[in-house]
Amino acid sequence: MIERSVVVRVHDGLHARPATQFVKLAKSFACDVEIRCNGRGASTKNAVKLMLLGVKENDEATLRAEGEDAADAVAALATFLQTPDAGDIDLTAAAKPAAASVPVSPAPQATSADRGVPASEGTAIGPAFAFFPAGLDIQPRHLGPEEIAPEQARYRTALAATVASFREARTRPGLRRDDAAIIDALVEVAEDSDFIAAVDGAIGGGRDAPSAVEEAGRSIAASFEALTDPYLRARAEDIRSVTRAIILSLLGRRDMTLADLPKGAVIVADEIAALDLAKATLADIGGIVCRKGAATSHVAIMARAHGIPAVLGFPVDEARLKSARTIALDGSSGEVAIDPDAETAARFTGAIAREAQERSALQAYRTVEPQTRDGRRIEIAANLGSLAEIEAAQTAGAMGVGLFRTEFLFMERRTLPGEDEQADTYTTLAKAFAPHPVVIRTLDIGGDKPVAGIDFEHEDNPFLGWRGVRMCLERPDVFKPQLRALLRASVVGNVKILLPMIADVGEVRAVRALLDECRAELDAAGHAHGAFELGVMIETPAAVFVAAEIAAEVDFFSVGTNDLTQYVMAADRLNPRVAKLNRTEHPAVLAAIGMAARAAREAGIWIGVCGEAAARPDLIPFFVENGVTELSMSAASIPRAKKCVTEI
Ligand code: PEP
Ligand code: MG
Repeated sequence: MIERSVVVRVHDGLHARPATQFVKLAKSFACDVEIRCNGRGASTKNAVKLMLLGVKENDEATLRAEGEDAADAVAALATFLQTPDAGDIDLTAAAKPAAASVPVSPAPQATSADRGVPASEGTAIGPAFAFFPAGLDIQPRHLGPEEIAPEQARYRTALAATVASFREARTRPGLRRDDAAIIDALVEVAEDSDFIAAVDGAIGGGRDAPSAVEEAGRSIAASFEALTDPYLRARAEDIRSVTRAIILSLLGRRDMTLADLPKGAVIVADEIAALDLAKATLADIGGIVCRKGAATSHVAIMARAHGIPAVLGFPVDEARLKSARTIALDGSSGEVAIDPDAETAARFTGAIAREAQERSALQAYRTVEPQTRDGRRIEIAANLGSLAEIEAAQTAGAMGVGLFRTEFLFMERRTLPGEDEQADTYTTLAKAFAPHPVVIRTLDIGGDKPVAGIDFEHEDNPFLGWRGVRMCLERPDVFKPQLRALLRASVVGNVKILLPMIADVGEVRAVRALLDECRAELDAAGHAHGAFELGVMIETPAAVFVAAEIAAEVDFFSVGTNDLTQYVMAADRLNPRVAKLNRTEHPAVLAAIGMAARAAREAGIWIGVCGEAAARPDLIPFFVENGVTELSMSAASIPRAKKCVTEI
């Protein structure tokens, strides 16, 4: 028996998407792993039971398994639970999904008569498209004993047809990988063994299949609705949409579809299932207003990913919404106007024009190579975690890559990637951005980012423990293949190597010695290798205090404001209780950045910023004033940062 307890770090816990990914991972092993949390247990292969466990971020969970691959299974699942963005990792593909340009979700506000929950920002006005699918109108019937087996078979056929139709919806053009993951979650619900057993059992007891499905679906949906976690409560909508799809298939009926939505129309509905939305041409949707739903509904997640303004949970009479001809909505404030008068319509139209202007003004910055008014050129680069994100970064106008987090290549798999595979990845990246630089960071695992294939012992303070370069220097079998791969990629592009978690100049010297060994090994193997700049992350207070000494040994600094803030303030970046202290704009953190920048200036090396704060319009002037020449951020923030620089 293998047993392991971990603290769950998955953001927002095992809600639908992470749960689906977790189940997918569990199913790739032969043994059955049990997960226990909050005094209850479930099989890790059962999505619905797992979601009902209500495993939240920071909960302690215990994994237990027996069997041939139990150790591997427990290790991989434990790694998953300790990975904050595990829900975004596609375990079926080699690459991490592109960061969707998701506008920041506005915080839900109290609803009033003309306001609902702001679910996806943006203003819209357009003809209403009433989406109120007809009731199911099930006629319950008691089955005779001879009818039971055929009715169970009929249910299986309807279930298979429903799953097939979900899978078909998943392949529609225009869907993002996140949308597909939402549909995967629905398939998982439809194929859930408990759900199937409940339906089979009810039919066995003489219920007709539509009634049996309806009853089983209602009872599972009610279990979700009883949970306190809003993410999990919103999953009741998934159960309802799956139930409805199976019943419609049993009744031989087709549902009303959003496929015929006219361009620019605003959908008004009681509730829209993610699956229904997936059937629409998403680019044609002007806006969405629903009587039910909240900011965590799948429809809200999809609307944000596609930039569709949406207001959910709008408290209005169904008949009034159904008969609306024109709808105006503001997805940031939650305001909705049904059949607005001329003055209200003009107010919304004005807001739409202003938003469009702001957007297109920012678009113009995509191709700009920004300079401050006094002529200082600043490079605005992208932070990437996988090759899948290259296109989005280029479209946004990235002037190279300021941080390629290589740990994602390691975290999303069950074995370590080899040297050749890594060399291919880094070469593709370097070629894609040449002649612009690509700053590739060596493995920064440990802390909140464990990896399958490297045994991390339990640490009381993993953020102060065996992470980043500390681990790499003790594991040359892991580190040297990466260094050799980076040296090989340097032949084709402008590669810069960045070392994470440096706290002592000795670490830089040790890496240089390993690089010398790697060059000799590549020569012996007949592989070409190129020249590169070597830099360090400034993310420990120690690196700040000895910045002058380190600067003498490297070509550049890159400030990791995420870690530097947590270490300077002694405030865990993952702990919401101390979030008030975890502020990069705190004078203590700014003083540390100022010190590092001065050391860089005096040594004549360049300095960039690649933590989240690099994109902050309120901090960009501070960075630039201190001599920072490169800011690296997620693709969506690039045009705005370029604009900021030109205004300094
Ligand atoms: C940082 O610490 O600011 C940083 C960019 O690294 P990561 O967020 O990957 O720890
Ligand atoms: Mg860091």
